[in-house]
Amino acid sequence: MNSSLSLIQQIDAILPQTQCGLCGHRDGCLPYAKSIVEGENANKCVPGGQPVADALAELLARPKLTAEPSVWDIQSDGRPQRMKAIIREDECIGCTKCISACPVDAIIGSGKLMHTILTDLCTGCELCIPPCPVDCIDLVEDIQPIPNDEQRISEQGDLRNRYYAHIQREEKRRIHRKGPVVRAEIDTELFAQITQQSQALPTIEVVETPIKNPVIHDAKTTIELAKIRTQIKKLEKQLSVRADQNKQKQLNELQKQLSVLQGDAE
Ligand code: SF4
Ligand code: SF4
Ligand code: SF4
Repeated sequence: MNSSLSLIQQIDAILPQTQCGLCGHRDGCLPYAKSIVEGENANKCVPGGQPVADALAELLARPKLTAEPSVWDIQSDGRPQRMKAIIREDECIGCTKCISACPVDAIIGSGKLMHTILTDLCTGCELCIPPCPVDCIDLVEDIQPIPNDEQRISEQGDLRNRYYAHIQREEKRRIHRKGPVVRAEIDTELFAQITQQSQALPTIEVVETPIKNPVIHDAKTTIELAKIRTQIKKLEKQLSVRADQNKQKQLNELQKQLSVLQGDAE
């Protein structure tokens, strides 16, 4: 494996895998790990707090920096208080926007039905809160015992897997997506590269967007096309109310003209 990819993975192994974007990398921990290798300061992971900033400084043999502060109090392990999101289910309108925002697929529900957060899986990343149109998601303190190092590594592994599976699913949907995009644009090539190095991670394949021949119309053709389309629409509307041989003839003629023009231009 190339040395920079290996270092990215070592850094990523230290990062909490909350995928919250608070470090400034909206598409998650791995892009921040890459940016650290490229020279960015290693103290920006907010949920990781001082322990993560120090562990990274040690790994990279860089001076220790004060970690970016969190809005939450600091727990006994030196990291900010862990949080969980909870949906006030009686207020939820089932719009599904929170589902695609959740990087670890911790929300279940379907269109027009009440949604629920699987509390064990929720990392409190807060990414589901802004897209909720009725503001029915609250954050509460996580009252579970603070994990030890071994538990944390295992939890991070699970979150990484869930996030990569989420990316793979989103990537497959990307081209045919009809609904709103509530997550950051994801650097799928970086994720794909990393998953090729590891059998433990769900493989991410980059789906190529089908490239159509670019349509370049000169101004005259564009105006002509617009005129013909408007006339066609008008005639179609009239013909849908009452049949008329002359109008039908005009419509056929215009459709022919349109396809000739499009054939020339597209
Ligand atoms: S946990 Fe959040 S702040 Fe920390 S590296 Fe990952 S995305 Fe960035
Ligand atoms: S449910 Fe909300 S807060 Fe919890 S992990 Fe998903 S997006 Fe983050
Ligand atoms: S975004 Fe809010 S209203 Fe929409 S499904 Fe999620 S919790 Fe319910």
